[in-house]
Amino acid sequence: MRILVVGKGGREHALVRAFAESPSETELFCFPGSDAIFELAKPVEAKDLDSLIAWMTANDIDLCVAGEESYLVKNEGLANACEAAGIPCWGPHKQSAQLEASKEFAKEFLGRHSIPTGGAKACATLEECQQAIAGNYPVVLKFDGLAAGKGVAVCMEAAEGEAFLDEVFVQKRFGEGRVLVEEFLTGPEVSIFAAVVDDRFEIFTPARDYKRIGEGDAGPNTGGMGAVASRRLIPADLLERIEREVVAPTVAGLQSEGLPYRGFLYFGLMLTPDGPKVIEYNCRFGDPECQAVMPLVKGDLASYCLKGAQGELDSSLIEFDDGWSVCVVLASAGYPESSSSGDRIEGLEHVDLVYHAGTKRTDDGHWETAGGRVLAAVAGGSDREAAVTAAHAAADKISFDGAQRRRDIGIMHFEES
Ligand code: ATP
Repeated sequence: MRILVVGKGGREHALVRAFAESPSETELFCFPGSDAIFELAKPVEAKDLDSLIAWMTANDIDLCVAGEESYLVKNEGLANACEAAGIPCWGPHKQSAQLEASKEFAKEFLGRHSIPTGGAKACATLEECQQAIAGNYPVVLKFDGLAAGKGVAVCMEAAEGEAFLDEVFVQKRFGEGRVLVEEFLTGPEVSIFAAVVDDRFEIFTPARDYKRIGEGDAGPNTGGMGAVASRRLIPADLLERIEREVVAPTVAGLQSEGLPYRGFLYFGLMLTPDGPKVIEYNCRFGDPECQAVMPLVKGDLASYCLKGAQGELDSSLIEFDDGWSVCVVLASAGYPESSSSGDRIEGLEHVDLVYHAGTKRTDDGHWETAGGRVLAAVAGGSDREAAVTAAHAAADKISFDGAQRRRDIGIMHFEES
C-alpha cells in the first residue's frame, strides 16, 4: 500500500509512524514533510496541488492522507482533486472543510442541526459588533477568516473587546472579514476525534490539549504545549451524551446537506454546566493531540484509513489501548511571539518516543531546532500519574538552548478530580 501524507509537523510525524507500524506492508511518502519524517517516508517534489496530484497518479499512490488542513480548502481542494484523479483520500471535500475554514459556516451548520454551541451573531462592522455586545462582558470575538491563530479574543472587559475590534476594523490586521460575537462559555475543554465515513463514524480516544505557553494556563495562546489522552479522560456516560448530542447529529447533518466527508473530524468542546457545547470543528486530527492519541491506537491504521477513504468503516482493524498517554511539547526560545533556529538538540537517543515538529538534521547528522514548537516527548502508562511521570522524565532528557516547556501537562485540570 503506497500512502502519501500531506503535512510537515509533529502530527504528521505521528501519523506516518502509525502507518509505518501498521502490520500491512506500506510504502510511505510525505509532502512537504520534514527531515525526521523522511526517515520513515520518502520526500515528494511538488510545487502546487496540480503537480502533487500528477505525482500521485504517476507514482500509483493508493491513499492520500490530509494531515494538515490548508490543502483541503486551497484551489479546488485536495480531496476534490484526488477524487477527480481516482485516488482515495482520507480527508474531506472542500465544501465540507468549511466547517473549519469558516467559523460563520460552522455556527450556521450547528444551528441548522440543533447541536449545542454558544449563541453568536455575525457582524460586518464595528458598530454592529458594539450593538451585539451591548456592553455585556465577558464576550468572545472571532474573526471569520484566516488569522494565523490570532483571530479569537476572549474578552473579559470592554478595553480588550475595543482593542480587538480596533485591530479588525480600523487597523484591518487580518484583512477583510466579519466578526462573530459569541457567548462566553465556561467549563473544562475536551477534544473529541471521530473517523467519519459518509453516514458512519467511530470515536477515537478523547484528549485535552494545553494551549497557553505558561504553566497554570498563563500567557499567550500557542499551537499547543502538550496533551493528555485516555478513554477515561471523561466518564462513559458523558462520552455517550457527546456522541448523541454532538457527533451523531454532525455526521447526519453532513449527510443531509450533501457534504461529503471521509476523514478525521475534530470537535473542540467545552463541558459547560448546561452540558457539552461545540467551540469549533477542525477537519483533521489535532496537533498535539494526535501525538498523544496515536500511541494508544493499536492495529492496522493504514488499512483502516484506506478502507475509510474507499467508503468502508472497518472498526475491526483497530482498537484503543485503555491506558493514558501524555505528550509534552518542547518549544524554542521566543515562542510564540517568535522562534529560534539552529540550536543543537541533545539527548534524543535517550528517549523512547519523540515526535519532531520543528527540527532539522545537520550535515554532520545532529538534530537542531528549526521552528517554534520543536519536539514532543510522549509516554504512556496504565494510569494518568504513571504516564505524566514517564512523559516528563522523557522531556527532562532532551535539551537545547532556550527550550521552553510546561511542567503541568497532564496535571493541571485534574487536581480537583
Ligand atoms: P485553534 O487554534 O484551536 O484552531 P481557533 O483560532 O480556531 O483555535 P477557537 O478554538 O474557536 O479558535 O478558540 C480558541 C480558544 O478560545 C478555545 O480553545 C477556548 O479556550 C477559547 N474560546 C473559544 N470560544 C469560546 C467561548 N465561546 N467561550 C469561552 N472561551 C472560548
